[in-house]
Amino acid sequence: MNATTNAFQMAQQQFDQVANQLNLDQQVREYLRWPLREFHFRIPVRMDNGLIRVFNGFRVQHNDAIGPCKGGIRFHPSETVDTVRALATWMTWKCAVANIPLGGGKGGVIVDPATLTNSEKERLCRGYIQQVWREIGPRQDVPAPDVGTTPQMMGWMMDEYSKLAGEYTPGVITGKPVGGGGSLGRTEATGYGVIYNLREAMQRLKIDPSKCSAAIQGFGNVAQYAAIGFTELLKGKVMAVSYWDRDDRTGYTVSNAKGIDPHFLMSITDQYGSINKDKAKAEGYQIEDANAWITKDVDVLIPAAIEGQINAETVELISDKVRIIAEGANGPTTLEADEQVKKRGVFMVPDFLCNAGGVTVSYFESVQNDMNYYWTNKEVLDRLDDKITTAFHSVYEVYEKEHVYMRDAAYMVAINRVVKAMQLRGWI
Ligand code: GLU
Repeated sequence: MNATTNAFQMAQQQFDQVANQLNLDQQVREYLRWPLREFHFRIPVRMDNGLIRVFNGFRVQHNDAIGPCKGGIRFHPSETVDTVRALATWMTWKCAVANIPLGGGKGGVIVDPATLTNSEKERLCRGYIQQVWREIGPRQDVPAPDVGTTPQMMGWMMDEYSKLAGEYTPGVITGKPVGGGGSLGRTEATGYGVIYNLREAMQRLKIDPSKCSAAIQGFGNVAQYAAIGFTELLKGKVMAVSYWDRDDRTGYTVSNAKGIDPHFLMSITDQYGSINKDKAKAEGYQIEDANAWITKDVDVLIPAAIEGQINAETVELISDKVRIIAEGANGPTTLEADEQVKKRGVFMVPDFLCNAGGVTVSYFESVQNDMNYYWTNKEVLDRLDDKITTAFHSVYEVYEKEHVYMRDAAYMVAINRVVKAMQLRGWI
């Protein structure tokens, strides 16, 4: 994260700017600038060596005017409560812009999951739920995966909640494994959602996607399916992806002048998104430094890692050829960098619109859990495409009509929906 902003200040400043443009009532601003509820707790876990280690956990519920809070749980060594607050706030806007009947929440644990064994991970997941289960539930707050958490972890958490609640409750958490209450299509949902957004943006901007190239930051779940979608659905070329190498404790860009093959790279990537660079090199890929992805002469940049990656320094490295930035990650562009992007006239598909595919299929998952009836992969992805296409155009129309930046247009759509729900419930 850039030193000048923390993620929550950034989320508040983005909101304040649009609140000014909308001339939003002061009381409503006060309501929406801060999360409604926060839980901070400690999670004691017996490690495999028999000793207890105590982890710090959070669950933040920003707003539930439209429906139960919704949002992932992140396991990250540099997690802070402010990051969780920011992510919870962005979830409120994300669910609202996607027009799904859910509010915003987020959770986190300060931990590097790669340092835990499988059984330690399971005990940490169960411990998280033991601390917070009274505050979550299908009608209260529904967690999901995020950076550092996996479908298997969601399965353990669902099981622990069901045991504590005394009844099978699959709808308490989404992103569960298929066969364990999960939905088909959830794995590819966020990355494909990025691509559906891009397809619609290119149609509006009259750009032929099959003539386009992209560079992607990250190679975790979102980046992997964005890369597959860009090459297979849009027929474009992905020139580079980047990743964090755990052994070397540094980041690298993996590129190929002929375009990367996402399936090959996935076959040499571990569960944390770390690529085996020797195997990549042996297949003719180039290994460059962490920032090389952002310097590429491509049409589209897709930051799909974590917050603050396009900042005052890295924004200067962006090539003049870049026409669109599609934010797969949450909060990847700092406020200063956003100003530069705006000035340069690069078209922005903002995070909470661009990456809304994940939570949209999470919503479908909870609907299927409630019905106890499951859709095919095609049904899920068709419904996702519908939702994302509608969301994109509802934002684009405000962008055109009000002559505002795409991020501000997305905020306008989202804030108006949340405020309307608050009014209808008599909160304001
Ligand atoms: N963690 C994802 C996000 O940031 C998904 C949230 C969910 O599915 O609830 O959108």
